[in-house]
Amino acid sequence: MPTPQAMQPATSPAAFTHALPSYLNPEHLGPWGIYLQQVDRVTPYLGSLARWVDTLKRPKRTLIVDVPIHLDNGTVAHFEGYRVQHNTSRGPGKGGVRFHQDVTLSEVMALSAWMSIKNAAVNVPYGGAKGGIRVDPRQLSKGELERVTRRYTSEIGIIIGPTKDIPAPDVNTNEQVMAWMMDTYSMNEGSTSTGVVTGKPVDLGGSLGRREATGRGVFTVGVEAAKHTGMDISTARVAVQGFGNVGGVAAKLFAAAGARVVAVQDHGGTLYREAGLDVAALLAHVAQHGSVAGFAQAEVIDNDAFWDVPCDILIPAALEQQITQANAGRIQAKMVIEGANGPTTPEADDILHDRGILVLPDVIANAGGVTVSYFEWVQDFSSFFWSEDEINARLVKIMQDAFAAVWQVADANKVSLRTATFIVACKRILHARDLRGLYP
Ligand code: NAD
Repeated sequence: MPTPQAMQPATSPAAFTHALPSYLNPEHLGPWGIYLQQVDRVTPYLGSLARWVDTLKRPKRTLIVDVPIHLDNGTVAHFEGYRVQHNTSRGPGKGGVRFHQDVTLSEVMALSAWMSIKNAAVNVPYGGAKGGIRVDPRQLSKGELERVTRRYTSEIGIIIGPTKDIPAPDVNTNEQVMAWMMDTYSMNEGSTSTGVVTGKPVDLGGSLGRREATGRGVFTVGVEAAKHTGMDISTARVAVQGFGNVGGVAAKLFAAAGARVVAVQDHGGTLYREAGLDVAALLAHVAQHGSVAGFAQAEVIDNDAFWDVPCDILIPAALEQQITQANAGRIQAKMVIEGANGPTTPEADDILHDRGILVLPDVIANAGGVTVSYFEWVQDFSSFFWSEDEINARLVKIMQDAFAAVWQVADANKVSLRTATFIVACKRILHARDLRGLYP
């Protein structure tokens, strides 16, 4: 019986690599280029599965759609929309939809690939996908936003579905947008299909606990890492950038565990209080005023001084590319927990690593959201809904198990947790690829 290697054609795969289009070229560094570098970095650890690694370097399916709508002023506008299914070896595609004027195909490809990694890292039975529309939603009326959403959903309807690819909210999309997507897909199908998207309103098949899930996951991995490193959470000082869904919930949970939240930054400014901020009061202030600005019980510091704050745990939970070559050398924390997606540039990542600062990477640290999205999808299929306590307990268990597997690989190979997460995830994806084999 010949081995699979022996059955490969005589032509070397290398003969085909010169023809890579520019967006697949690792030299062309955008988000997709960064992702390709990350895959290259883990390839030596993949053993015999490395022969499948090119699977990870090409999205399985890429759809570009025209989204024409009537504007309120009677004219017609066209927007460009994307849905990329990076990999579906382990299950249907899963990932959010972003509405932003700067969205590009390269960005959506990278985000879809990172969803493959994230879903495999927490071992939920999904592949990775992502979508987007190149539009500034702040320029649209509510009616225009609904028409953009519905036309886009209809256009990508040929590849999405509860067993094919399940969108969710991302930047500038929310529960209402998911409700419109669910309705549009259902109208086209002729039956109500709640499981086609997650992040829906609870009254339409959404899940309890979804809003807090990402912040709870951030807190859970922080607690697990603290156990391994001997850090005492109950006396730790925490600094949080971004005080929204992710950062606000994480801050609340750390404070409840006894930690002192000494600094918080949002788009309105930066607050510092060495004795610890009153997180509940700050959350109430933000709910009323829209930002941390104007909160009386704290010192206001320069936005840039946020990176010098003495703290044990730093949680970037706002935007991409916040920890850079310019500030990574100043960070005083012992641990960085990436609540946001892509908050650390690759150069800054190396600086933090060299300085012995432990980075809990986004692909595992903020996976709590997609984990509860998975619970939402399961509940929609069974039409049986769980209590919030049940959801939180299952979420914590999945995050703990995922973190333990990643920690073990990092320790065994003496690599960063980011590289370890990629090793765990890539092995799971490529093992599924290997078991399934190639069709035809
Ligand atoms: P959000 O809109 O609820 O909150 C964003 C926060 O960032 C706000 O407090 C805002 O004031 C702050 N912010 C914006 N611009 C800033 C700036 N220039 N400087 C400092 N702070 C700024 O968003 P979110 O849902 O909390 O998401 C935050 C990050 O987490 C994003 O990167 C998102 O992709 C990522 N993420 C979110 C989820 C989720 O379930 N919500 C899941 C995974 C990853």
